[in-house]
Amino acid sequence: MDHTGSLADSWQPAGHADNWQPAGHADLSRFESKDVELAKSLPKVELHLHLDGSLSPEFIGRRALARNITLPVPPENLREFMMKKKLEKLHKDDNKADKGGNWPVFDFCNQFLQTKEELFEGTKDILQRLGKENVVYAEIRFCPHLHTLEGLSVNEVIESVIDGAKSQTAVKTGIILAALRSKDSEHGIEIAQLCKKYQGPDGVVGMDVAGDEGTYPLKSEDSHMFAGVMEAKKLGVPVTLHAGEWPEKFGSLGNLKWAIDNKIRRIGHGIAIRSDTSLVSKLKENGITIEVCLTSNIGNGFKVANYSVHPAKILQEEGAKFSLSSDNLLLSGDLKEAPSPTAEVLHLAKDVGVGWEAVRKSIIDGLEAAFNTNIDEMFITYVKNKIDDLYQEYDIID
Ligand SMILES: [Zn+2]
Repeated sequence: MDHTGSLADSWQPAGHADNWQPAGHADLSRFESKDVELAKSLPKVELHLHLDGSLSPEFIGRRALARNITLPVPPENLREFMMKKKLEKLHKDDNKADKGGNWPVFDFCNQFLQTKEELFEGTKDILQRLGKENVVYAEIRFCPHLHTLEGLSVNEVIESVIDGAKSQTAVKTGIILAALRSKDSEHGIEIAQLCKKYQGPDGVVGMDVAGDEGTYPLKSEDSHMFAGVMEAKKLGVPVTLHAGEWPEKFGSLGNLKWAIDNKIRRIGHGIAIRSDTSLVSKLKENGITIEVCLTSNIGNGFKVANYSVHPAKILQEEGAKFSLSSDNLLLSGDLKEAPSPTAEVLHLAKDVGVGWEAVRKSIIDGLEAAFNTNIDEMFITYVKNKIDDLYQEYDIID
């Protein structure tokens, strides 16, 4: 990406601007305005963000118009509509994914990410919104095969997303290609090889395995995604896995254990750690960072009952490394709670209740776990200083 623009140039004023709304339109009204201002002003990191689940309703509205598609509701009501659809699916079948497929709400969004222009503009739009919340580094992930429905090749898909990320300078970026765990071994291997083909600080920085981990686990050599992950390791592609995300009754603890034992560099969610806290020491020993997605996890109470019992508290108390992410700016959370970089910071400090020092550590942990090799010591020191200045300005001592 373009690393020439100075952060100071793109820095946004604190959160009291009248027209400011957090990405995903999270309702922050119950927090003190001073805390919201600080949370917004902090330099933030998003390591776990899905392209298709993070489009803005405005973007979808524009694309629907261009495609002559009538939306089921006006763009301003899209999030509410999607949250209701998610809840219906959860009640119907515990949110299981079909073989080879994806969840319906993601499929809905993906119909607007099928041309080079849509992929370019969609990526750019997300990053610009993140920039407005002072996100300084973001990794955007997607499965290229979901964007070939109208004839694009996977290469064209990947190149369009890379170009979209490069077209803005507000947020330093890395692209992650995700393999869908509902697909077969060949798919996983192909994703690993595509990561290698486009690997670089201005391109793809890592591989992910995403999807329904209950129905399609990764906990042994027989698992579909085993070969792909091994291929990525062999090729020197950094890997993050969605693991330990689903309730334990779906076998998520086995997936989490496998990821920890196999020294996967980062793990998405990892909430199943609450059921076997002895894993924390191995997590630390293996230098693994957890991508914590608070609002995503408490959505409809399916994975975690509420913020105050989120296992991020265990990670913090035990000194394990973790970073905060929104997961899906449009599709994560529920009718009550929407994610955003600013909201996640507030939830950690105030709702999980571990305070501002934990927020500081999570931001630095996130930068240190960045897959983009351009995130160097100099940049991390710059961010540390920025946080220290803000904490001084806001009299934070905890
Ligand atoms: Zn995710």
